[in-house]
Amino acid sequence: MTRQTRTTLTRRGFGTLIAASAATLATPGLLRANTNGRLLVVGGGFGGASAARFARINYPDVSVTLVEPQTSFVTCPYGNLILGGRKQLSDITHSYDGLRARGVQVIHDRAQEIDAEGHRVTLAGGDVLDYDKLILSPGIALRWNAIEGYDEAASEVFPHAWWGGDGSQITTLRAQLEALPEGGVVGMAIPDNPFRCPPGPYERISMIAHHLKQANPTAKILAFDSKDGFAKQGLFQDAWEELYGDMIEWIPASQDGRIMRVDTENKLFVSEFGEEHHVDLGNVIPPQYAAGIARDAGLANDSGWVPVNPRSFEAEAARDIHVIGDANVGAPMPKSGYIANSTAKTAVTAALAEISGRPAWDDPVYFNTCYSHAGEDYGISVAAIFRPTDDGFEATPDSGGVSPSGPLSEMSRNRRLEARYADAWYASITDDMFS
Ligand SMILES: Cc1cc2nc3c(=O)[nH]c(=O)nc-3n(C[C@H](O)[C@H](O)[C@H](O)COP(=O)(O)OP(=O)(O)OC[C@H]3O[C@@H](n4cnc5c(N)ncnc54)[C@H](O)[C@@H]3O)c2cc1C
Repeated sequence: MTRQTRTTLTRRGFGTLIAASAATLATPGLLRANTNGRLLVVGGGFGGASAARFARINYPDVSVTLVEPQTSFVTCPYGNLILGGRKQLSDITHSYDGLRARGVQVIHDRAQEIDAEGHRVTLAGGDVLDYDKLILSPGIALRWNAIEGYDEAASEVFPHAWWGGDGSQITTLRAQLEALPEGGVVGMAIPDNPFRCPPGPYERISMIAHHLKQANPTAKILAFDSKDGFAKQGLFQDAWEELYGDMIEWIPASQDGRIMRVDTENKLFVSEFGEEHHVDLGNVIPPQYAAGIARDAGLANDSGWVPVNPRSFEAEAARDIHVIGDANVGAPMPKSGYIANSTAKTAVTAALAEISGRPAWDDPVYFNTCYSHAGEDYGISVAAIFRPTDDGFEATPDSGGVSPSGPLSEMSRNRRLEARYADAWYASITDDMFS
């Protein structure tokens, strides 16, 4: 397959696709496709699925191919609600059929190598895809052994549940919670910044406490933190006190909260100052960096994250590769699904400007709201608007803020409404990715 044909096809899969396209000629999206440029999207999560859908709708003449190993997508958002007993795995699992119906060519394989110079990507299965523009949204990788003893095998015993994958990490953690002995200790190890979803660990603490309050009220949660402060801290701590009494103990870095070693056999967390803590259940969220495909392609800097042009998300290290979602250096923007979705649209617009002849947005704005559930009908949020600067991103002053604080007796309506807004956010963003 040559690039001159301006289609995105696998070299090995060409014959198969001819046969397939004959069967799908009635799909208007496919009839319009493949005429003007090839957009390849690697990673079918919050950034990638949003980008593929947005491109297909707004640039019908551009062919869009999405590469994603999982045949359905399990979201991290709302995964904590499974721990709280409020959602099932099926509630947070999404099919790629909607994208296919729009004319996105979805290939379930893993991108193994990027040839930035030659504009092609080799898949684990051996196929090679040519592209004009590449959107890369592969998410995070966990830094195995950054906490001594915490490797992939250890994560089967002390789950991280910090990526969706096939859903097995979150369901294992839920099963372990159900099996926790009466009055048992749940230990959590929480990383320093930057990491995926700054409020996520604290929503998780809340949802675990929500479950334990009913099922095992004498159990304890020890939350060992590698930092001294966290997102929505006052709001979370008020909620914990109001809803869960003294069930939760948060241990900041300055009080020896940094976990340096874990021992899954003896069920131990070992802190910076050598203190050993026995836990009946361990949830270890290790330090993170950009997923392997981005680092292996030489796109990341020493931090392990990918520096990008803040207006186009084009990687500083390679032309025509736009890196969105958690994998890039986006600070002070949080590594959130909302930001991945919001920035996906700017990246697509910038990537396709040349091909489509339509201008990129010269003054892009990135939105974020992170909702968290702290209990039943108890939602809190943080919101902000970000803009590009000459060398990065900045939060627009007074553009957002956190939910109002105050005793639950005065705040119950607000908390109930925010829980409902959170549900509406989840429904609308997953529609904007997969429908
Ligand atoms: C517990 C928890 C709760 C959260 N709650 C919220 C929330 O309430 N709101 C919010 O906005 N955000 C939330 N987040 C954060 C959100 O999940 C991430 O910020 C978001 O998923 C980032 O999108 P992404 O596209 O970068 O990565 P992902 O959504 O993880 O997608 C990456 C995809 O790339 C695929 N991939 C990886 N490598 C390759 C490869 N080599 N080839 C092909 N495909 C590949 C993966 O299989 C994956 O499907 C939460 C996170 C966690 C852990």
